[in-house]
Amino acid sequence: MASRQGSKSKKSTLSVNKAVNSPSSSTTSSSRQFLETSLEGQSSPASSTSRSKRQYFYSESVPLDVERSKENVTVTVRFRPLNPREIRQGEEVAWYADGETIVRNEHNPSIAYAYDRVFGPTTTTRHIYDVAAQHVVSGAMEGINGTIFAYGVTSSGKTHTMHGDQRSPGIIPLAVKDAFSIIQETPNREFLLRVSYLEIYNEVVNDLLNPAGQNLRIREDLQGTYVEGIKEEVVLSPAHALSLIAAGEEHRHVGSTNFNLFSSRSHTIFTLTIESSPCGENSEGEAVSLSQLNLIDLAGSESSRAETTGVRRKEGSYINKSLLTLGTVISKLTDGKATHIPYRDSKLTRLLQSSLSGHGRVSLICTVTPSSSNSEETHNTLKFAHRAKHIEIQASQNK
Ligand code: ADP
Ligand code: MG
Repeated sequence: MASRQGSKSKKSTLSVNKAVNSPSSSTTSSSRQFLETSLEGQSSPASSTSRSKRQYFYSESVPLDVERSKENVTVTVRFRPLNPREIRQGEEVAWYADGETIVRNEHNPSIAYAYDRVFGPTTTTRHIYDVAAQHVVSGAMEGINGTIFAYGVTSSGKTHTMHGDQRSPGIIPLAVKDAFSIIQETPNREFLLRVSYLEIYNEVVNDLLNPAGQNLRIREDLQGTYVEGIKEEVVLSPAHALSLIAAGEEHRHVGSTNFNLFSSRSHTIFTLTIESSPCGENSEGEAVSLSQLNLIDLAGSESSRAETTGVRRKEGSYINKSLLTLGTVISKLTDGKATHIPYRDSKLTRLLQSSLSGHGRVSLICTVTPSSSNSEETHNTLKFAHRAKHIEIQASQNK
């Protein structure tokens, strides 16, 4: 169990994390210094590249399966606009939103699905963040594990939603900024943030922050599952965290002749590990809280189609399996009564097991295009989302 650190080291934690404008070049050494300072008195100081062996009081102290409830899982659908090519080709809107329900246009008999939230083509990512992500991020800062997924076919808007660009920042940069703002607004706690960034390609885990970290193993200890040897970097500012993602994206280019094709066939997981403890008067003996926020850009879900080449078939079958398992896991989490949850059936769910179980918060954002040429793929995504969390349709449907 973690014992409280001296107030000197606690102060340094706070000041390090609040130095949001500190130059990132000094990060590695100061992070390491900081870690060593904060671990004063521990027998095995952690480095920024290895998993800490300290024992923690878990804020998630409830037994698994007890506090799981529908409310901890939200499933939303985001429509992107028809793109210029689709408009040029005269494509039509095949699916449309009617409140929180999505209806298939000109389809008889009518098909409609209901979700927690449905976002139309003009909704900004900022708004989606506020509605479907902010509670997961603030929960993670309070010690509740959180996971946000973008699910959908290639070109439906997953990366736009998770990463975005300068003009329209995605959920990852918004979450990172929010995390640092929360630190600023929480003077009675001190925080240490670490990030890791990995991809799962054909059920193989690769470290995007360390090109040498290929085919890493998933292990389990008392704290849950973790990736052995994954590089974790202490981050001191939003800019620092985002620069690591940019570097990680560069690593994905290596060995790939077609980046877009490749990226659509792997899952990427950006993880923010948040460690915090109370500081100030009367905090002696209180628990260190440890939680994770996982932000995930999933592989394109279209791979279920019959593929022609052996390589594509192999990729497709791995993606199928992991997305199918994910769907099963999430639907069992929302069910609340399931006794066996098949986390072990895919690397993705296996390594997210600790975050998804217990009262961890989950937000599944399913991205779709309204275009008629993708109508069946959109239908598959909607069915996936519906299976993940079944919501009764309240409104009467005429179409
Ligand atoms: P995916 O990651 O699912 O393959 P992308 O996020 O790369 O898809 O989106 C494909 C294209 O559509 C990109 O050019 C992206 O900028 C654009 N796009 C996606 N979603 C939206 C949206 N909601 N609004 C505007 N453009 C979008
Ligand atoms: Mg993408």
